[in-house]
Parts: sequence; structure tokens; C-alpha cells
Amino acid sequence: MKQKAKPSLVNLIQCPKCGNDEKFFEVVDNIVETNWYTQNKDGSFSLEESSSQHLGTPRFFCAVCEEDLTIWHRRFSEMIF
Ligand SMILES: [Zn+2]
Repeated sequence: MKQKAKPSLVNLIQCPKCGNDEKFFEVVDNIVETNWYTQNKDGSFSLEESSSQHLGTPRFFCAVCEEDLTIWHRRFSEMIF
């Protein structure tokens, strides 16, 4: 019997503790954010560009039961669009 209900191409990250595969959160320590500005003729500043750099290791959690899913973080970070 073939399984047709779910497409098997997508292998979702699922919390092993509660089964959640929809809500997650990421915790990042020690972020350094750099913002570039141009000063205008009237003395005001316009934001041109900003970038942030992680100094700590990001952690990844199930948003339902808060299980630590950091082992999945690499895959998670490759799937953010
Ligand atoms: Zn969970």
C-alpha cells in the first residue's frame, strides 16, 4: 500500500518529545550588530546597511514544549527563506 497522504519529498523537523513540527524558536547570544549611516545635508542620518554577526552558538528549541533541538539547528538555518 502506497502512502499518498503526505508528500515524502519534505522531511520535516519534528520534536521527538511532543511531535510538534510547526513552531520553533532560536536563541542567539552575543550578537554584534553594525549599522552604516549616511549623514544628509540637513544633519539627519539615513540607514544604508546593517549586518549582524553571531559570536555565540545559536540554540534551537521546540516552541511547544521547549525541548532543546539544537542538533537540528544547522538544517534549520539552511531552510530559512
Ligand atoms: Zn516539543
